[in-house]
Amino acid sequence: MRKMLNTCLATLLLGALSICAADTPFRAGAARVDITPPIGTPMAGFYAMRSSVGVIDPIYAKAIVVEQDGGKAAFVVLDVAYTPRSLIVATRKSIAEQTGIAGERVMISATHTHSGPTLTRDSMMDDITGGKTPPVVDYMGKLPLLIAKAVADANARLAPANASATIGREENLSFNRRYVMKDGTFAWQGRKLDKNILSPAGPIDPDVGVCYLASSDKKAEPLATYVNFAMHPTTIGGVKVSPDYPGYLAKRLAEYYGAEMLTFFANGCCGNINQNNVNWAASQSGIHEGERVGTVLAAAVFRALPNLQPLQTFAPRVRSRMVMLQRRTFSGEEIAEARLTARRISDPKVDTTTKAKAVCILDTVAKKDAPLEVELQVIAFSDGLAFVGLPGEIFVELGLALKKASPFKRTFIAELANGSIGYIPNRSAYPEGLYEVVSARCAEGSGEVLIEKALQMLNEAKNP
Ligand SMILES: [Zn+2]
Repeated sequence: MRKMLNTCLATLLLGALSICAADTPFRAGAARVDITPPIGTPMAGFYAMRSSVGVIDPIYAKAIVVEQDGGKAAFVVLDVAYTPRSLIVATRKSIAEQTGIAGERVMISATHTHSGPTLTRDSMMDDITGGKTPPVVDYMGKLPLLIAKAVADANARLAPANASATIGREENLSFNRRYVMKDGTFAWQGRKLDKNILSPAGPIDPDVGVCYLASSDKKAEPLATYVNFAMHPTTIGGVKVSPDYPGYLAKRLAEYYGAEMLTFFANGCCGNINQNNVNWAASQSGIHEGERVGTVLAAAVFRALPNLQPLQTFAPRVRSRMVMLQRRTFSGEEIAEARLTARRISDPKVDTTTKAKAVCILDTVAKKDAPLEVELQVIAFSDGLAFVGLPGEIFVELGLALKKASPFKRTFIAELANGSIGYIPNRSAYPEGLYEVVSARCAEGSGEVLIEKALQMLNEAKNP
């Protein structure tokens, strides 16, 4: 009798264990590693070589690892301007070695801070910004292991957690930086109080996506807040390292939740969006502006907190796909003109748009036979929220369209994710020209191709 009882107990226990293995609770971990480059490292964000002379605030690689039912996924955000594909490949390799998480299950996006280090990107930009100088080569060599350490630390901290999400709104912080003028022409980076401006040439995206992770025990300890908003981090200027406004956003949220809670900022489709309000005469550049913008965005997050909805989680579903895009083509005349501009590329009298156009044309000529291949990625661990990674600086119209069509209740888009081919304008922007269009590597219609394929992947992830 007793033996039978023991057998029964053992069977029951085994049964319970096997149920646990198949149905383990949602777990999450978060960590960060300082990736501040040494003073003197050339900085990104401008068509010139500018070596850093100091640090306003450190910059970080931050990682969240989520797990359920044996499946894992990782989200990494970097306080850098962009994500060269070579960096992604090397970093994912290190992450897989250290954690066993496959590369396609790791989304690595850049905040797009314009006060971070320049990174080697196999472009004429390397010659202009110092992207192949010893400090940058050295920094790039160390970065994959630093980022992998953040993911390994997050992985080691995996613990039962709850996830919740909401989408707040901030209508008054970001601006479309392309304008229709009263004479019918288009202008880039409108000037303050310019009476010739008729209207912005396109919309903004006021969504402030918030995904909040906390421990599932009684303490409900704050682990991480992932914030998704579309706006260029171009507030700081100068030659000191700073995470730009996302750094001040993180400070404000840490003041509320405690320093252990890490804020992740993923930039949305902000290719044509920045903080410059042409109806406001005040200067919008410098630390004070970064602080203002980060604080206003934090306020939008705080306003949204009461609306956080618990997410019913499942094992992370991942879709990652390589997509081939068409390169733009240029006439002999355009190429000749670009070669002339290249001779004066360091001349401050040559405007940014002219430089950008020349760099784009000459890069394209140099790589005309190389495929323009990019990665699209979708990660979802709940019907209530999907994350999309897009490979460049995406125009806001494309992001709005994708979010509207998405089958998920909420969709966050991280641009500059898993690689970057520069600006990806929407189709109708191409004939208007201006900075983003003349520097775009991909042909007209590429953005729409990406959105269509990303939507397919979202549908697959929704109904696997
Ligand atoms: Zn940009």
